[in-house]
Amino acid sequence: MAVSQIETDVVVIGAGPGGYAAAFHAADLGLQVTMVDTRERPGGVCLNVGCIPSKALLHAAEVIDEARHSKDFGISFAEPAIDLERLRSWKEKIVSQLTGGLGQLGKKRGVEYVQAKVRFEDTGTLALEDGEPGILKFQRAIIATGSRPTVIPGLDLESDRIMDSTDALELPDVPKRLLVVGGGYIGLELGTVYAALGSKVTVVEMLAGLLPGADKDLVRPLERRIRKSFEAVYTETKVVSVTETKKGLTVQFEGKTDEKQTFDRVLVAVGRRPNSDDLGLEKIGIEPDDAGFITVDEQCRTSRENIFAIGDVAGQPMLAHKAMREGKVAAEVLAGKRSIFDNQAIPAVVFTNPEVAWTGLTETEAKNKGIDFKVARFPWAASGRALTLGRGEGLTKMLFEPESGRILGVGIVGSNAGELIAEGNLAIEMAAVAEDLALTIHTHPTLSETVGEVADVFLGHATHLFRKKS
Ligand code: NAD
Repeated sequence: MAVSQIETDVVVIGAGPGGYAAAFHAADLGLQVTMVDTRERPGGVCLNVGCIPSKALLHAAEVIDEARHSKDFGISFAEPAIDLERLRSWKEKIVSQLTGGLGQLGKKRGVEYVQAKVRFEDTGTLALEDGEPGILKFQRAIIATGSRPTVIPGLDLESDRIMDSTDALELPDVPKRLLVVGGGYIGLELGTVYAALGSKVTVVEMLAGLLPGADKDLVRPLERRIRKSFEAVYTETKVVSVTETKKGLTVQFEGKTDEKQTFDRVLVAVGRRPNSDDLGLEKIGIEPDDAGFITVDEQCRTSRENIFAIGDVAGQPMLAHKAMREGKVAAEVLAGKRSIFDNQAIPAVVFTNPEVAWTGLTETEAKNKGIDFKVARFPWAASGRALTLGRGEGLTKMLFEPESGRILGVGIVGSNAGELIAEGNLAIEMAAVAEDLALTIHTHPTLSETVGEVADVFLGHATHLFRKKS
């Protein structure tokens, strides 16, 4: 059988946000680039079965939720009629519009796209699998293979009723009772979607609180709302066994509840693990760490001079925007620039209702590391805009270096926290101090005012809060 051979300067393995950002940037910088992925089109998990479809469904959930809550100000709607088929195709249309667009953007830049699974043969050769056999010869490579859902023993039953995030995003149906295992990003985002569509959702989280990475005061308003819209939330609880019966999946809990309960479906969202185990890394002398991450330096270079790694496969946090930035750094280094990944803040956003967002230092992290800080809080009950939206439960907080007032971290819970956090990112990257935010005019009335006012709280002169001087 003929073996096809492709030759390229730079190969990017994986066409998710990290991979395509790297490939496009490298091409923009004049390099010859080939991007390889098992999917027909670029986009990776994020566009196909992650960030984008989940946000489409979360938007639908928010519309339903807003309609339900509008009773509070005298407007009542009938219960929504949900056309799952239409919802699915709307979501798929967005995905195909975006992946198609990326395909065009790649072509226009002259990036060659190869649909294949690849494995390293040596530091200049990849074997092409799953298609026509072939080899790909390269000078330099960027590994951007991402991650996949973690499977936990006991929950690896071969059952259609057990879903990972990809299955859940397919919206197979609206189960009457849904168990979500894992109270992290995916569990809470997809739990929110299914609860709005009409499922009775139970969340079981092994640790003491939901969203373990976020400060407790930011999680509290979300947890309060979730406890009303979900059937149950069990923290410090584990699933010890699952058996399938005609009625559904019977689950034995252990922890805050020791009950046995039956669910129509179970969504497992207990984290993701890096895709580093099926790449032939042993042939090129790269050994991932115990968690499967490939170790890289600040230029995203692995222990092999000509091989780089970015995104989920190169370490936490497993977030698309971190991957995209790393992709640009790697491309610039390949083009001979002296770039490094030296970002001060990587924002995290959980797109629940309300949204939870944080960037830079968290209060928990500061305490654990013994970092000296002052914290200021601005409750949204004092924000006119938040009250007009019926969302006074929000909170904006900021951590400052005590002497200089330099902003170390920002946390926000509330409507649009995911958008509002951007100002915090910029403030941290620019090494801004409290005065920089306090003296910036924030449009009135907007939620962004809370970001200015929290700096005012630190400085002791917030307009919409009064604290007696001690
Ligand atoms: P996660 O790490 O956010 O949450 C997993 C949760 O499961 C944790 O709270 C953990 O304590 C819990 N857990 C682990 N084992 C358990 C068990 N046996 N029983 C009960 N609970 C258990 O992981 P995820 O939600 O699967 O998401 C994976 C990654 O994908 C995230 O870390 C994030 O990086 C990324 N992601 C990001 C977004 C976003 O940016 N909005 C959305 C979805 C996913």
